[in-house]
Amino acid sequence: MRICARKERGKFSAVDVSVESKLPDVGTTIFTVMSALAQEHGAINLSQGFPDFDGPEPLLDRVQHYFNNGFNQYPPMQGVPTLRTAISGKVADLYGAKVDPDSEVTVTAGATEALFCAIAAVVSAGDEVIVFDPAYDSYDPVIRLQGARAIHIPLEQPSYRPDWQRVEDAITPRTKMIIINSPHNPTGGIWTDTDLAHLEKLVCSHELFVLSDEVYELIIFDGELHQSVCRFGDLYSRSFVVSSFGKTYHVTGWKVGYCVAPPLLTTEFRRIHQFVTFTVNTPVQLGLADFLTDHPEHHLRLPDFYQGKRDYFLSLMKNSRFTFEPSRGTYFQLLNYQAISQESDRDLAERWTKEIGVASIPVSVFYEDQQSSGASVLRFCFAKDDATLERAAEILCNL
Ligand code: PMP
Ligand code: GLN
Repeated sequence: MRICARKERGKFSAVDVSVESKLPDVGTTIFTVMSALAQEHGAINLSQGFPDFDGPEPLLDRVQHYFNNGFNQYPPMQGVPTLRTAISGKVADLYGAKVDPDSEVTVTAGATEALFCAIAAVVSAGDEVIVFDPAYDSYDPVIRLQGARAIHIPLEQPSYRPDWQRVEDAITPRTKMIIINSPHNPTGGIWTDTDLAHLEKLVCSHELFVLSDEVYELIIFDGELHQSVCRFGDLYSRSFVVSSFGKTYHVTGWKVGYCVAPPLLTTEFRRIHQFVTFTVNTPVQLGLADFLTDHPEHHLRLPDFYQGKRDYFLSLMKNSRFTFEPSRGTYFQLLNYQAISQESDRDLAERWTKEIGVASIPVSVFYEDQQSSGASVLRFCFAKDDATLERAAEILCNL
């Protein structure tokens, strides 16, 4: 890498600076790439996952209140007490688990920071970490930054659940952690209580840690129960459970999430968290705490709210040439375009953004071996106003 740097008597001259990249194969994330392309071409953006509607007004009012009334200095490193207590209450209500707000809950700068800190807390150079493809894009680079190796196991299509024999066969003396994500981005698949029971047995017998990415815990459809790791006592005792307020409260830009983990793991987690971000902005934490406590109906209604969006989007798409299985959770829907085009998903996502004005996310980028992703599918985000979904569907139905 060549950098123009040295300034001598008012003039810059070129100097050679060499940097050995820690992530030489990593480009800009697909979400940033596709959203930028959508913006450049004025396309309807169903790519990066975020709502095109605002968070609930009482929540915005509470945050405004704290902004305007002097709550603008550092909060405690682990998060404000009222928010940690509200999180602990939510975990008890939803999953019947008792987690101590002081020793088991940490507020983070989005789930992204929590994922980083959890991996960095226990994974060391030479370790192996099992991830399931298609895998959310931040897991593998963070594992590699620890000098460890990600072992990618494909989920079984079309259910996108794991083959547990294959998982067991992949465990070696170097395996340190398994990362799971249900409801699953990008497929919309969910894991069952049987899956979690298999996982519990494996991690206890092999003494592994689990990182459970549950950011879509409240976006689950057709009456299914979210199988949080918090429901399984032995499993929880070896786990970091991560969630995000961005998804649940329609405020992805606030970047506030949290990690729930048993005291020993939380201690290690916080050793890292305090030097990554130290803490997360005060007024938003305080506002979220009030809203969680005063308006639990918001998150309790979320499955119906997003199921309505999924069903509306799919009803608009039913006469299209795409084929699909309804998403079972998250605010993403996979659409198979095999009857329309033979192009690669990446090429097609880019071409359609430019030419037809609808942006989506290619799914192959979430596979270690992109050729093996095997399916001609694109991911569409339906966390949008009905009018946005109608405009997008009209275009897609003409293909
Ligand atoms: N995990 C998954 C599976 C996600 O989809 C996302 C983001 N949408 C994150 C983690 C990161 O969440 P946050 O924006 O709170 O950092
Ligand atoms: N998780 C979001 C998605 O899947 C994007 C988050 C990001 O842009 N980093 O679209």
